[in-house]
Amino acid sequence: MAKPIVGIFGLTGCAGDQLVILNCEDELLDLAGALDIRSFHMAMSDNDEDCDLDIALVEGSVVQPEEVEMLERIRSRARLLIAIGTCAVWGGVQAMKNEEQREKLKRQVYGPKGKDFGIIPSQPLSSFVRVDYAISGCPIEKDQFLQAALSLIHGDLPVLPDYAVCTECKMRENSCLLLERGELCLGPITVAGCNARCPAYGQPCIGCRGPVEEANVASEVNLLREKGFTLVDIQNRLRTFGGQSEVMQVAPTERGR
Ligand code: SF4
Ligand code: SF4
Repeated sequence: MAKPIVGIFGLTGCAGDQLVILNCEDELLDLAGALDIRSFHMAMSDNDEDCDLDIALVEGSVVQPEEVEMLERIRSRARLLIAIGTCAVWGGVQAMKNEEQREKLKRQVYGPKGKDFGIIPSQPLSSFVRVDYAISGCPIEKDQFLQAALSLIHGDLPVLPDYAVCTECKMRENSCLLLERGELCLGPITVAGCNARCPAYGQPCIGCRGPVEEANVASEVNLLREKGFTLVDIQNRLRTFGGQSEVMQVAPTERGR
């Protein structure tokens, strides 16, 4: 069986997902043996910038016009384009300030030099190109990535959890931070896959993996309001990661209560 030809690319983000791939340690040699990796700028100096790819793994969100071109070029080369990490899937933490004017942000961050940079609101890959599959997480989970890689090597699309972090939390028999301690936990509306890591350490879920399908945001907001949180508290928490900002559309927008 021919090895799938793979390219691993990074747009704007912290490069944490590419690091997860490199940190596969025990499995890295097997992975490198099973895949024909032609492009991986973080790990290789000799990259093929033109070959057709069976699979392109793309990390990071799009925040510059140049990245739109780069992404379109990757899409045109790849049979399957897979978004890896919450930035690529949802826009990431850099989408937190999407409602602010870019010019104002550039001035605040870069001063007078800011006018030389072209930036656009942080957007996921799917705003610009067709994305065939998405593996979310900030960063992605190593085990999920390896499971996905195995499926792709065998020509199948991976199957990832489609339920909420709360389900994993209950399977671990954690006490519920929201119901029992009244904390602002986003577990009910966040997609599982991390084995409820934060609640297991006594910390509420801040939604880093992005929203679960059909997240019942209205019910989460009502519950949190009953626990005494203001809409501003709730909106600020939902804004931390791009995906949860998306679900804010169905949350109430009045401020200050
Ligand atoms: S602690 Fe959070 S993730 Fe766990 S069950 Fe409660 S609401 Fe869900
Ligand atoms: S519990 Fe929530 S914040 Fe923590 S890793 Fe999982 S999805 Fe991310």
